Amino acid sequence: MSEKQVLPRVEHGQRPVLSFNERQFGKPGRHLADLSREERRVAVQELGYPAFRADQLSRHYFEHLTVDPDQMSDLPAAQRGALASNMLPTLLTQEKAQLADKGATLKVLWKLFDGAVIESVLMAYPDRTTLCISSQAGCGMACPFCATGQGGLMRNLTAAEIVEQVRLNMGLAHEGAVTVAAKSDPRSVTNIVFMGMGEPLANYKAMAEAIRRIASPAPEGFGISARNITVSTVGIVPGIHKLAELGLPLTLAVSLHAPDDDLRDDLIPVNTRYKVGELLDAARHYFVRTGRRVSIEYALIKDMNDQAWRAKLLADELNTRGRGWVHVNPIPLNPTPGSIWTASTKRAQQLFVDTLREADIPTTIRDTRGADIDGACGQLAATEIDPEHIAARAAKAQQAVARRVADSDQQAKLK
Ligand code: SAH
Repeated sequence: MSEKQVLPRVEHGQRPVLSFNERQFGKPGRHLADLSREERRVAVQELGYPAFRADQLSRHYFEHLTVDPDQMSDLPAAQRGALASNMLPTLLTQEKAQLADKGATLKVLWKLFDGAVIESVLMAYPDRTTLCISSQAGCGMACPFCATGQGGLMRNLTAAEIVEQVRLNMGLAHEGAVTVAAKSDPRSVTNIVFMGMGEPLANYKAMAEAIRRIASPAPEGFGISARNITVSTVGIVPGIHKLAELGLPLTLAVSLHAPDDDLRDDLIPVNTRYKVGELLDAARHYFVRTGRRVSIEYALIKDMNDQAWRAKLLADELNTRGRGWVHVNPIPLNPTPGSIWTASTKRAQQLFVDTLREADIPTTIRDTRGADIDGACGQLAATEIDPEHIAARAAKAQQAVARRVADSDQQAKLK
């Protein structure tokens, strides 16, 4: 028997409020990366230059990863400055960079034009380099175990702000900012995951536009294979259906964390809108439509969602919808400010994994990167902003959940 997690006795709290509305409305000026190739040609013509200048600019941006007019020697010197300042305004400024995992992980805090902040995490592996990017400044989904959710939603990012995270990190990777033993530099970014701050499907249009830029070959975009791009969601069902129609072989990751509505209503507040059954049906539909195996993310929280019976229930929910369409990634819970929850014990984790595997569900524990620099899953909060607020909100939200869970256990025992 594992030791029981201590649940503090507190008053009942309100369920957290979901927020799809932005607190801050500023939008940066138009940027080349917001536009399709055709739109760029039109924009350049409107500025009074020939359309082919748009392709030249695009090559500098997407191939050479530069926005510096001095390096654009194929453009007439007299036009460079005006083209760059009109089409390539500065969107992100690097505020802080932190290395972890012996230099293999780099977390960068970026400031946006209006002072909003976001984070990205670059991770080098022997066989690939993965970049984790943000889709929103903050997040409105209010999941009580996630640091980002405690600060609320500041605003959606534009497509170009998302794309700029990729360009700037590709530049950092080329400069050798991250290294893994036995692998020579420079590196190129091979994989993109929308697993930073924000809910990508709550900012669908900008996310989809950014994905087009990331996946299209130069000069339209960076040419990173769509198969290597993962969109992770709390489970916004209409967004999953839209993504299935995008016509790209993206990987869909669903942050499930509980196989039953009782617990998931508390852990993922948007579950009160889109229930587990409906969500898994949408995930299955995504697989059928795209042929892409779906990832189920499951943060193992001690005595909260890590029981063997929940592993069995999860396996049943997945298997009743078909075989070979899904893959489960349990993640030991990462610590967040003010959290009263901890990761499952190794034993509970192993039992959870074994139970899934015995039910024929491919299961891999996800490795955690950047935990000591608050760069791991659920830790991105741009914490220099207001760590106390985040800690206080997390503690309050978690205590309310703990209380409800304790109550329902109690009621179950009385029955
Ligand atoms: N909003 C999207 C994208 C963020 S991805 C989503 O939720 O899927 C970040 C991932 O980290 C999600 O799977 C999230 O549930 C998970 N996560 C959040 N807090 C965590 C924590 N403390 N420990 C481990 N994983 C966490």
